[in-house]
Amino acid sequence: MNGKKQKSSPDYSAWVRCLVEASGEEAASKPRNLAPGLYVVATPIGNRGDISLRALHTLAEADVVACEDTRVTGALLHGYGLKKPLLSYHDHNAAERLPELLARLGAGEAVALVSDAGTPLISDPGYKLVQACRAAGHDVVAVPGASALLTALASCGLPTDRFLFAGFLPPKKTARQKELAELAGIPATLVFYESAPRLGATLADMAAVLGGGRHAAVARELTKLFEDMRTATLAELAGQYAEEDTPKGEIVIVVGPPDAAEAALPDIDALLVQALATQTLRDAVAAVTAATGAKKSEVYQRALALTQG
Ligand code: SAM
Repeated sequence: MNGKKQKSSPDYSAWVRCLVEASGEEAASKPRNLAPGLYVVATPIGNRGDISLRALHTLAEADVVACEDTRVTGALLHGYGLKKPLLSYHDHNAAERLPELLARLGAGEAVALVSDAGTPLISDPGYKLVQACRAAGHDVVAVPGASALLTALASCGLPTDRFLFAGFLPPKKTARQKELAELAGIPATLVFYESAPRLGATLADMAAVLGGGRHAAVARELTKLFEDMRTATLAELAGQYAEEDTPKGEIVIVVGPPDAAEAALPDIDALLVQALATQTLRDAVAAVTAATGAKKSEVYQRALALTQG
């Protein structure tokens, strides 16, 4: 099957019927229906071909599918020729839905949990449900598949031996810079989710706080028609997006680890961000210069970059 560049999804429903049948027969010794339990099922992040055979089988056999948005999941299932009872489960109704879902599991049902896209619980609801299910002694089974963070890492060309997934940064500049300062010295690749309207401001803060020389990637619309991967230093990416219209679509930012020379700077940045939260620029520079023994002119330049960035 041709991957991402198709304009509209092919009709998956016919071969999904074959595949679901086949996967049921493969496990010939098992009963046709799923064992009771919570099934955490990953769905595609764009390209509907990116769903596993086991995910289709699980969705086809579950008694109910708990999902963030019943319209989104209803349309997804329809694309595979599946129709199932759906139950909304999201951050705002999690507390009231929990007893109902636990009762269904207690009655021996197989409940599938999906999110709008990708792997549930990864910057998506589900953690409390999984925790409650385990505490109540119900089986919890992950049915793995697509996730934007691994898809970006797998194709951006930055080191993957050690990485930290930081999810979404705070939308407000001061809080965002503070969080970046905490991450700056970590000797690992960093992965972030970001919304398109905030991309420019976030890259500017990353360049100022993490260091403009760090290699990075902006992965947009992964697995979709307008998939795009841009790789450059943080300073270059910040400059490019500052000059362009706000991009469209969904975005992952990957930042490579600091090199040895840059690793020293972030500590100064971290201290500066903290000091600038309560002190004038002049006092903050003096305090951080005294605390680190760094050159005052260098600390001043970093402080300017942080406040003007
Ligand atoms: N659970 C999902 C996963 O496993 O990746 C993530 C859900 S989170 C609410 C949505 C964010 O994931 C988007 O704002 C974007 O940062 C990222 N994302 C999801 N799909 C993407 C795609 N196709 N391309 C790039 N980023 C994507």
